[in-house]
Amino acid sequence: MKISRNLYVRVALSIAFVAVLVSMISSVFSYYTGLQEKKNTNYLLVQQLGQTIAKGAAISAYVVDIELGQEIVNGLVSNDLVKGAILKGEAAMLIEEGIVNGQQDSIVINLFHPFIPDSSVGTLTLFPDDVYIQHQAQKSVKKEIGIMLSHSIIIAFFVSLVVHRWLTRPIQNLTDSFAMIDPSVPETMQMLKVRSGKHDEIGKLTVGINSLMQELHLTISNERALREKTQELESKFRLIFEQASAGICLLDEQNMITTFNPAFERYFTAPAQQRLASLHFPTLLNDVEKLQELLHSIRLDSTSSQITLDIECRVGDKSMWLHCLFAKLTDQRAIGRDSQSNLVEVILHDVTERAEREFQTRFEADHDALTHLLNRRSGEKKLHKALFDSLKKQHHLVLMMIDLDKFKPVNDTFGHEAGDKVLIEVSRRLTSRFNRVSDICIRWGGDEFIVGRQFDEFDHELVKQQANDVLSDIMKPIYITEYEQCEIGASIGIVVGPQHGKVLHELMVNADNTMYQVKDKGRGQVAFYQKPY
Ligand code: GH3
Ligand code: MG
Repeated sequence: MKISRNLYVRVALSIAFVAVLVSMISSVFSYYTGLQEKKNTNYLLVQQLGQTIAKGAAISAYVVDIELGQEIVNGLVSNDLVKGAILKGEAAMLIEEGIVNGQQDSIVINLFHPFIPDSSVGTLTLFPDDVYIQHQAQKSVKKEIGIMLSHSIIIAFFVSLVVHRWLTRPIQNLTDSFAMIDPSVPETMQMLKVRSGKHDEIGKLTVGINSLMQELHLTISNERALREKTQELESKFRLIFEQASAGICLLDEQNMITTFNPAFERYFTAPAQQRLASLHFPTLLNDVEKLQELLHSIRLDSTSSQITLDIECRVGDKSMWLHCLFAKLTDQRAIGRDSQSNLVEVILHDVTERAEREFQTRFEADHDALTHLLNRRSGEKKLHKALFDSLKKQHHLVLMMIDLDKFKPVNDTFGHEAGDKVLIEVSRRLTSRFNRVSDICIRWGGDEFIVGRQFDEFDHELVKQQANDVLSDIMKPIYITEYEQCEIGASIGIVVGPQHGKVLHELMVNADNTMYQVKDKGRGQVAFYQKPY
């Protein structure tokens, strides 16, 4: 049997069950205690009955009136309480009626002489009907149980009514209101109605829930507005990230690429069978160690969180320049989470064209347009620095001032263009001999050149030999057309810094003078500056 889940039905059934149980226990208890009581009462009644008719029975026993005695005994036995009776009188008178044997209790009443007090004439023995008495007791117990049961059922019914009216129905109303609420639709979170008395427990509960829902409604509305805003921002940022012309990627603490945008993918193609997303970023660029050091220093640097750098790298077979911005991600929300704070964002732009243009402009600014040697302005700067270094390191800076001999006639004979070719070829021969990184080759002006070299130890003979080698290089024939060639000489003045001049101007004046002394002495020679005595 399915029992209703309604609270008031369950309360009523519980009360009824407990009431039945209690009434049954109490009835059984009262049955056993009431039975003896009833028996005693009935015995007393039987005794009183016997006393009532004791006088008549004494007369019948005294006069031995069998008929009267029989009538009295019959009268007694006809009573429901008496099961049997024995009347004993004079002259062995004995009248028995009903059930008179058995072990049950009996009531014996002495019959006295009608005229002589205290003189016995016989006895009247009465046997009460125990079965009847027990039956009577049971009947009254059953009645009691019935009354208690009906009381219990009535009480259970009224309690269930009260529970239904004051508890179940308000709770049901509350539950129905709750069923209408959909947290995803905040508009449904209206106030619950306080239908029962405002001040009872359910009223207070409703008021409490209402204020809680109001808070919740506010929180959900705010949360939703925030989420919408975040989603909008996120989609904008995603659009920027995906459609940016700059390559963007994120590096983890091992400098492995974790995220990248489509533009980044266009810059780099991962080697076969490798995913770009799991590549070590520095290996994509040229100088792996330098880049690793740089990324390490960005992570350690607490003052600045970003560095910009132009990096030249080879992608496939072409070389490109990338303008890179490395920025440490310092997300405030990630405080205490190391993994987030170690992320580095990289933004790359292809600046190859600009870099090449800049390189060209700088080259043009620093170099002579015809010979591509350093021009006088940038050459002077280099010489200043080289002289400063030789002073500092106690090295020697050897400078050779070279002026071509009788160059003008080349122009005059073969033309200006041929003269240019000679200047270009002489420059090429100078740079092929002065080809160390620290060597300096300058077109000082017109047909005048300066070459410079640093020596840890100054060896006069060695320098002289090198100057003569330069001279013989220059003097070798120069083809000015396929079939025509010309020969040119040069006068070379040599100075050694810092012993021949601690400042560049002094050194250059001395070199110039030495070179002109060679010119004066007939050209085509090398000469060292001689300090005047
Ligand atoms: P010297 O032996 O005394 O040095 O006489 P030179 O003929 O070499 O003449 P000088 O050094 O006094 O003058 C250099 C000449 O070089 C002057 C100029 O006509 C010529 N010249 C200067 N610059 C250029 C150039 O860019 N191209 C050509 N073709 N000639 C130049
Ligand atoms: Mg000259």
